[in-house]
Amino acid sequence: MVNTEALIRALPKVEQHVHIVGSTRPETLLWLVDDGEAEKPFETVADVRRFFQYRNFSHFIEVYMTVFRCITREDQFQRLTYELLEDDARCNVKFVEASFSAPDHVREGLDYGLMLDAINRGVANARRDFGIHCNLRIDLVRNYGPDFGMQVLDWIENKGDNIVSIDIGGSEEKFPPKPYARIYERAREMGLHLVAHAGEAAGPQSVRDAIDYLHVERIGHGVTASQDPHLVDYILRRNIAIEMCPTSNLRTGVVPCLEKHPIRAFFDKGIKVTVNTDDPSMFNTDMNNEYIQLHKRLNFTVSELFQLTLNALDTSFLPKAQKARIDKAFKEEYKDIITVLCNHND
Ligand SMILES: [Zn+2]
Repeated sequence: MVNTEALIRALPKVEQHVHIVGSTRPETLLWLVDDGEAEKPFETVADVRRFFQYRNFSHFIEVYMTVFRCITREDQFQRLTYELLEDDARCNVKFVEASFSAPDHVREGLDYGLMLDAINRGVANARRDFGIHCNLRIDLVRNYGPDFGMQVLDWIENKGDNIVSIDIGGSEEKFPPKPYARIYERAREMGLHLVAHAGEAAGPQSVRDAIDYLHVERIGHGVTASQDPHLVDYILRRNIAIEMCPTSNLRTGVVPCLEKHPIRAFFDKGIKVTVNTDDPSMFNTDMNNEYIQLHKRLNFTVSELFQLTLNALDTSFLPKAQKARIDKAFKEEYKDIITVLCNHND
């Protein structure tokens, strides 16, 4: 019998939606509090795991804020980024677009340029050690308002090493997309790609507004778009990709169970959906688990899961020629995996 889980683990993967802070391993969180001057809300890995249980979405944001405040020095980002990529590489992820919420840390007194350098050292070391590639996207963090977002674009203009896109994360309900229209327009003129978190903590209007006012190429989450069939058609027509994060949505209560997650319906409809971890450590997941859960709970076949990989590559912000090269390599790797595993079982 073919071992389907082994097959799924072996699939090449691409991750589009993962936050650096949310990837902090429990052990590394303990190191951060020892290493810096942060207050110590936990003593052991078991404490951290208990701390990473959420009553709802706003409770998750509260916990996330505590974690980001544990980062007290710029150079700590090197280890966080390296470990994020090490964990992804273990799941055979070949390419990552990692999200850095720079404004959170600058407001706590850290230096943007030094943090970016530390992150890019982590990226370079992971590439050397695991062969994994990583670009960055900057989360403007919508809670600080559009004027602050404009400042963040100034930082990127002055120093944009390895940054390919912007995003707005944070409190979606209180900070709708429309006031960010000018910022997204300027970001586009700067040659940056455009993504927004939408349809996670707010309803379908948030998704529609991100498309109409911000002209995003991809939506982060997009779960609540499923409540509006016209919007689903609109997303398909406009060829907008959706970065879905099933385990994240389960843990924060956005969906009651994985069986009710709209990723299956969106995929069947032909929308370019991808699967991602969001905050792997804080949600106790990784890319292998996301793929395996889709197989177990939503009946994704191995070839459908491989299609999610191809979707993620196709809608990534890599140059066209590079995408075509990787697409070819992925398809060859896929053929080899199938052949080896099936021969093994003859
Ligand atoms: Zn996210």
